[in-house]
Amino acid sequence: MMAQYLDIKRQHPGSLLFYRMGDFYELFFDDAVQAAGALDITLTRRGQHQGEDIPMCGVPVHSHEQYLSRLIRAGFRVAICEQTEDPAEARKRGGKSVVRRDVVRVVTPGTITEDGLLDARSNNYLAALAEAGGEGGLAWLDLSTGELTLCPVERDGLASLLARLSPGELLLPERLFAAEGMGPLWDEWRARLTVQPNPRFDSENGRKRLLSLYNVGTLDAFGAFSRAEVAAAGALVDYVELTQKGRLPRFDIPRRQPAGQVMEIDPATRRNLELTRTLTGDRKGSLLAAIDRTVTGAGARLLAGRLSAPLTDPARIDRRLDMVAHLAGETALRVDMREELRRTPDVERALSRLTLDRGSPRDLACVRDALERAVSLRGRLAYGDGGLAMPLPPGLARIAVGLAGGPGADHEGLIALLSRALGPDLPLLARDGGFVASGYSAPLDELRMLRDDSRRHIANLQAQYVEQTGIPSLKIRHNNVLGYYIEVTAVHADKLMSEKHRADFIHRQTMAGAVRFTTVALSELERKVAEAGDRSLALELEIFAQLARAVIDLADPIAVTARALATLDVTTALADLAVDAGWCRPEMAADLSFEIRGGRHPVVEQALAEAGGGPFVANDCDLSPGGRLWLLTGPNMAGKSTFLRQNALIAVLAQMGSFVPARAARIGTVDKLFSRVGAADDLARGRSTFMVEMVETATILNQATRHSLVILDEIGRGTATFDGLSIAWACVEHLHEAARCRGLFATHYHELTALSAKLPDLSCHTMRIKEWKGEVIFLHEVAAGAADRSYGIHVARLAGLPQAVISRAEQVLQILEKGDQASAAARLAEDLPLFAAMGARPPPRQVVSEPESSLVEAELRDINPDELTPRQALDALYRLRGLL
Ligand code: ADP
Repeated sequence: MMAQYLDIKRQHPGSLLFYRMGDFYELFFDDAVQAAGALDITLTRRGQHQGEDIPMCGVPVHSHEQYLSRLIRAGFRVAICEQTEDPAEARKRGGKSVVRRDVVRVVTPGTITEDGLLDARSNNYLAALAEAGGEGGLAWLDLSTGELTLCPVERDGLASLLARLSPGELLLPERLFAAEGMGPLWDEWRARLTVQPNPRFDSENGRKRLLSLYNVGTLDAFGAFSRAEVAAAGALVDYVELTQKGRLPRFDIPRRQPAGQVMEIDPATRRNLELTRTLTGDRKGSLLAAIDRTVTGAGARLLAGRLSAPLTDPARIDRRLDMVAHLAGETALRVDMREELRRTPDVERALSRLTLDRGSPRDLACVRDALERAVSLRGRLAYGDGGLAMPLPPGLARIAVGLAGGPGADHEGLIALLSRALGPDLPLLARDGGFVASGYSAPLDELRMLRDDSRRHIANLQAQYVEQTGIPSLKIRHNNVLGYYIEVTAVHADKLMSEKHRADFIHRQTMAGAVRFTTVALSELERKVAEAGDRSLALELEIFAQLARAVIDLADPIAVTARALATLDVTTALADLAVDAGWCRPEMAADLSFEIRGGRHPVVEQALAEAGGGPFVANDCDLSPGGRLWLLTGPNMAGKSTFLRQNALIAVLAQMGSFVPARAARIGTVDKLFSRVGAADDLARGRSTFMVEMVETATILNQATRHSLVILDEIGRGTATFDGLSIAWACVEHLHEAARCRGLFATHYHELTALSAKLPDLSCHTMRIKEWKGEVIFLHEVAAGAADRSYGIHVARLAGLPQAVISRAEQVLQILEKGDQASAAARLAEDLPLFAAMGARPPPRQVVSEPESSLVEAELRDINPDELTPRQALDALYRLRGLL
C-alpha cells in the first residue's frame, strides 16, 4: 500500500494527498504534518518507512468538506485519491493485492464547486494571464456557470482588472511571474497565484485546445481574439482538465470583453469607495451591502459582478434601466415575483456539480425545482397578474424567453421526467440509494418488493422458531458484522445445541449473556435481501446516471434559464430598492455632463437612519463643462468626504444600471473613476504612507482622461504644510490643464482657493456652517464660495480636549493668523513659554534614554508571577487597572 501511496504522491508533488482508506481520507509524511498543523487535528503514526515512523492524520469522508475548505482557505491544494474498485475485486486478484486507487480531482481555490466551500453570494473565478507578441490577455472562468470571458489587458490596467474580478486563483506563466516591475502586484495576489511553466501558455496550443473544446474549425465566429487572449484561455482550459482529471465542465462559448466596455476602477479607488468591502474588510457597511436586496445566491453574485464592473455605453445602461423602471412601476407583480424567486434554489451550482460528475439526487431535485419556478415566473412576467400587463421592455422580454431556456425551448419534458423519477426523501449521496420514486421503474419496484418480502419472511421466521424451540425470548437481530442472526440468552443456549435442534441451528458466537446462531433458511433469506438490495442500488445508480445525463444534455438551455433567473432577481431587487428608498432614474449620456440634484450618500444615509440621527442633507453637484472641477473647503466633520464619495457612488450606481439616490441626475458616462484619500487615513497599510499617496496620485495624473471622474480628499496632507500645499496646487493645475477630467477636491489648504482666479473651470465650494452663541453648527450643505476658517479648534473642543489646551490653541491661532507663518512660529517659540497659558510650570527636563517609569510599570516590576495564586493574580490585575 505504501508503494502505491508513494507512487501517487510522486505524481502530485504540489498538493496534499487525501488518500482514501475506508471511511477516512488519510494523509501521510509531510502532508500529515502540514495538515495536522493547519487543521489542528491529532498527528499519529502508522508503520515505518526506511526505518522512520510515518506521521499520519486523517479526516472522515462524511465530514471532509469542512476540512477541505479550511485547507483551501489556508492556501493548500488537495489531491483527492479514491478507491477505484470494490475491495472484493482486489481480493479476487489475489491475497496481497491492494485496492486500486487514483486521484479523481485536484481541489484548488479556483476550481471548487461544493456549496460548503463556496460563498453563495460571490463568484469564484479561475483566471489565467498570458502574453504573446507583446500584448497581454486575460481569461476567466466561473466553473459553476461555465462562463468564459476573454479580454486584452495592458500593464497599467491589470491591477484594476484583477481587483474587479478578485479571482480565487490566477494562473501565471513563470516568465510573467519573474517579469520586471511586477513584484509588488504579485505580492498582493501571492496567496492566489499558481505559477506554471511557460509552454502551457503557448498560443498555438491554446488555439488547438479551444478548437477541440468547441468542436469548431475556427474561432472567428466567437470574436476576434488576440494571440495572448487565446493563450490565456487555452492554459485555463488545460488546467481545468488537469485538476478535474479529464472531466470537463460545460463551457459557454467564450465572450470577449473589449477594452473600454466597463468603467475602470483601480484597487485603491475600490478600497476607498468601499464598494464591496469596507476599509476594514467587512461586507456590512459597503455599498454592496446597502443596495443588495437580491433573494437568490445567483442574483447576489450577479449584482456584485455588476457593481464591480459598471458599464460605459449609455445605450446598454439604458436597457438595464428600462427593466428596472418597468418593474418599479409594477408593484404587485414585483412583490409576487420576489416571493417566488426566494424559493428558487441555486441551479447554476447544482448544474456544475452534475456536469462534473459530482452531483447528488438533491442536485437533480434542485434543477427540477428551479425550472418549475422559472416556468411559473415566466407566466407571471409575460402575462402580468391578471389583466393585461404593460408591454415588456426588450430586456424583460428576453428574460421571459430565457426563463423557458431560450427561443423555442421549454423545460416541461425534463421537469416531468425528474418529478416522476425522484422520490420524496433524497439522500446526500446517490450511493445511499432510496431516492427513486416507486412507480418509476418496474424492475426496481420488483427488487424492492423482493427485499421487503424477504424482510417480512425473516420477521415471520422468528415466530416460527419461538414455537419450534419453545424459547419465547428468542430474537432475530441484525448487525453489520454477522448480518442476521438468532439470539437466545445463555440459559437457553444448550437447548439449541441439543440433539434435537443441532441440525438446524448453527452456532455463530458466544457473548457474555447471550449466544448467537444462524440457520440455513435465515442465511438464504439474508442472501436474498442483500442481493435484492445490491441489485436495486445498482439499478438506482444507473437511473441516477440516466437522469444526470438528461440534465447535462440540456445544460445549455438550463444555463440560459439560470442566467435569466439571476437577472430577474437583480432587476426586481434594484426596482424594489428604487421604490423603497425613493431613488430616481439617472439620465445617461455620452457627453461630459455631470449634474446631480439633491444627491445623497446611500450608506451614510442608511447609517444615520439606523442610528436614529438627523435626516441626511441632500446636495447638488454640477461638474458639467465650464465648471468641471470643484474645490471644496470646510472644517473637519462638515461632510466633505461624504459629499465627494456620494457623487462617485452615484456614478457607479448609474452605470451599473441602477436608480440613484438623488432627485435628478444626468451623467455623461465615466470611463475611469479615481478616488484618493490623504495619507493620514491610510495608516493601517503600514507602508511609508506619504510615498503611497504620491504613487497613487501619480497613477491618476498619468491615467485620467477627459471622460474620467477624479476625487481627491485632502491630498498632500501627509507631509509638511508647504510641501503638501505645493503638491496639491500642482495636481489641481495638472488635472485642469492636462487631464481635463471632471473632479472634486476636498482640502484644508484655503490657499488653494486662489487658484480659481487663474483656472476658469475650477470653482470653489464650501460646507456651510452656522455659528450660534459661540457654538459651530454643521449644516452639511454645500454652497458656492470658500470657507473663511477651518474650525479645527472647534472640533477639538467637541472631542473633549482640556479647556486649557483649547484656550492656548486659540491664542496660537491668532498669532499665526496675523503674521507670516515662519516668523510667527519663531515668535511663539521665544515669547510665549508654552505652559504659561495653562498656569502651570513646565515639567522638569527628562533624560530621553531613561524614561521615568509609570506607577503601573513600577507595580508590574514588583510582581513575580510564579509566586502568585490565581486569586492574587486577579487582585493584582484589578489593582493595576485601578492605577490607569
Ligand atoms: P469631513 O470629510 O468634512 O471631515 P465627513 O464627510 O466625514 O466630514 O462627515 C462627517 C459626518 O457628518 C458623517 O459621518 C455624517 O454622520 C455626517 N454627515 C456628512 N454629510 C452629511 C449630510 N449631507 N447630511 C447629514 N449628515 C451628514
